[in-house]
Amino acid sequence: MTADFPLHRTTRPVADDERAAALADPGFGKHFTDHMAAATWTPEDGWHDRRVGPVVPYSLHPSAAVLHYAQEIFEGLKAYRHADGSVWLFRPERNAARFAASARRLTLPVLPEEDFLASVEGLVRADEAWVPAAGGEQSLYLRPYMFASEAFLGVRPAHRVEYGVIASPAGAYFGSGVVGVTLWISAEFTRAAAGGTGAAKCGGNYAAGLAAQLEAREHGCDQVLYLDGAEHRWVEESGTMNVALVTSAGELVTPQLGTILDGVTRASVLDLAVEHGLTPVQRPISVVELAEGCASGSITEVFAVGTAAVITPITGFRGPDLSITVGGGAPGATTLALRAHLLDIQHGRVEDTRGWLR
Ligand code: PMP
Repeated sequence: MTADFPLHRTTRPVADDERAAALADPGFGKHFTDHMAAATWTPEDGWHDRRVGPVVPYSLHPSAAVLHYAQEIFEGLKAYRHADGSVWLFRPERNAARFAASARRLTLPVLPEEDFLASVEGLVRADEAWVPAAGGEQSLYLRPYMFASEAFLGVRPAHRVEYGVIASPAGAYFGSGVVGVTLWISAEFTRAAAGGTGAAKCGGNYAAGLAAQLEAREHGCDQVLYLDGAEHRWVEESGTMNVALVTSAGELVTPQLGTILDGVTRASVLDLAVEHGLTPVQRPISVVELAEGCASGSITEVFAVGTAAVITPITGFRGPDLSITVGGGAPGATTLALRAHLLDIQHGRVEDTRGWLR
């Protein structure tokens, strides 16, 4: 059974001038809108108590399962305002499907796609004033999540689960001009292994990645590039982004699915590649191929893709015994063209011929 998420409007919204100040300089993930969507699950009642209401803190017993065993998943997607004032979500059905897949992996109850979409849409409608104006690269970031709230220390799937969606205005990823990032290839840390949770969007993956991220920063790099856990030889993905490269043979190559996250941006770029004269290829890429290809020029561009970063040029890699410069160290033309194309679709500046907007 699915139902609406009825709106109980807050009686204490953020003041207009405070909201305007937040929208003038949103940054990422630090300002929150007036409302949240929520629902609760128990074995007896299934999903119930669907609502959109004021943002309220949780009251959790200290034994709540999520605090101990990290039975938790989340999603990330954005709402974009178009020039005519209308507001659109980008491929939210894919986020709903991935949320369901993550739930299955973490033995959380699956939220029906209709509920996922109704909750996200209900929240965006309630907080429409928080969607930044058209014209730039700003958006309203939406964060659906689910966690085990049952007060019980036994290790088993929880019998009480909370679902929620919160929203936060997001600024342009690059303030002034697109610049390339450098990724750190850690010799020590890996992100995922076959049979593990690499393909799920669960909080534990990100907690485990923090040490590698610190290591990257200590070496002057922006993010981590993870290699596979078994051989430490194959390129997987970055901390919050998938990666892809462009070859001189006119291919757009990205690692195949398996232990990586099935990114919505990754899937979209594979689709757009053809319009840019590229053949999309999903196959293993070794770190040796990456180094040699960048040195010889057979790999001309490398970039990262994700909802937050859109498409970000990668201009170099560093590791304990490794230093790779990509395409002369400047963002590549194909990377920038794909980036502009995707942003134009999301922000309604070109026709949405694929039906990606909702
Ligand atoms: N990989 C990881 C580990 C991520 O956290 C994300 C962000 N969701 C991505 C890739 C990119 O996925 P998407 O394009 O769906 O945002």
